[in-house]
Amino acid sequence: MNCPELPEAQLEPWLPQGEAPLVIAGPCSAESPEQLMATAHALAAIPQVRVFRAGLWKPRTRPEGFQGVGELGLEWMQAVKAETGLLLTVEVAKPGHVEEALKAGIDILWVGARTSGNPFSMQEIADALRGTEVPVMVKNPLNPDLKLWLGALERLSQAGIRRLAAIHRGFYPYTSSRFRHDPMWEVPIELKRHCTGLPLLCDPSHISGSTTLIPGISQKALDLAMDGLMIEVHVHPSQALTDKRQQLSPAQLRQMLEQLVVRRPGHEPALQDMLAELRHQIDELDHEMLRILDRRMEIVRRIGSFKKDHGMTVLQIRRWMEIIEDRMDRGERAGLEREFLLRLLQLIHKEAIRIQTEAMEHRGD
Ligand code: PEP
Ligand code: MN
Repeated sequence: MNCPELPEAQLEPWLPQGEAPLVIAGPCSAESPEQLMATAHALAAIPQVRVFRAGLWKPRTRPEGFQGVGELGLEWMQAVKAETGLLLTVEVAKPGHVEEALKAGIDILWVGARTSGNPFSMQEIADALRGTEVPVMVKNPLNPDLKLWLGALERLSQAGIRRLAAIHRGFYPYTSSRFRHDPMWEVPIELKRHCTGLPLLCDPSHISGSTTLIPGISQKALDLAMDGLMIEVHVHPSQALTDKRQQLSPAQLRQMLEQLVVRRPGHEPALQDMLAELRHQIDELDHEMLRILDRRMEIVRRIGSFKKDHGMTVLQIRRWMEIIEDRMDRGERAGLEREFLLRLLQLIHKEAIRIQTEAMEHRGD
């Protein structure tokens, strides 16, 4: 898959200038003019914060939850901008939200995880945005489906929106996880590989689900060269009406931002040259690994035709169990992680099964 609708030529740089990374902060939900203004003033005093976020229309799981203050909050947001000078961003989920937000002069819009996974909603939002210049940030859908995330961005791009960004906010965890949403870093990395020029931000709040994990996730996002952070901050987190466990206080945000290490991309030729020798060694080892894999698969084919000739099943569970045990033990003694070894072996075994199953299907040869 590539990203034909989002070539760099169709993207316009729009991230507010200044020291990278871009920091967007504010409460999960706008709750009252006082809560919003007090949070905004505290955030405006933190030098790294450039954009103020607040959810006005909240996508809640149950209808009895706090649904957000809606349109009313737009006036409070305008007051925030007038008093603090911070840029504003709100979540939009419907064409009506887009119209109201644009009328109120909101600087940046974002589309949430529950909306980005719905092509009908995305198309309606894209149509409502046609002809405007407002930047739009698209959070990943809840399920780790890169095409769906890209599709949402493509619909906006096709409606003529050039100022786009993606926000990685983690994925619904199907197994128990220490995160509220599984980061699955490989998905945003794939997005970056396909759309190199697309700004990519991280939302550590919704990945973490609790304040303690936010600094680690934020640092990792920066180490993965992400362009910014969107962080939930509430002036009194314990009283928040939504996402109370994951909202930082302004003081906690300040402290975290002071402690984060912002590393440079290091594209300078001198640095790249210094890495060249080590990279050459990696290249050689990868080439050797590919030759070994090829030889391994050749033997897999021969075993496959033996099994076929002797009416044996492709899967031989005892042999597979022995392989796992032996390779994991050896790998671990060599200093490799067991979890990594298991995933690697499973991938190789999956390919071996595919090759042998295909061989079984060719009758008469
Ligand atoms: C939010 O940012 O408050 C929000 C609802 O996020 P998400 O769409 O990522 O769940
Ligand atoms: Mn939230």
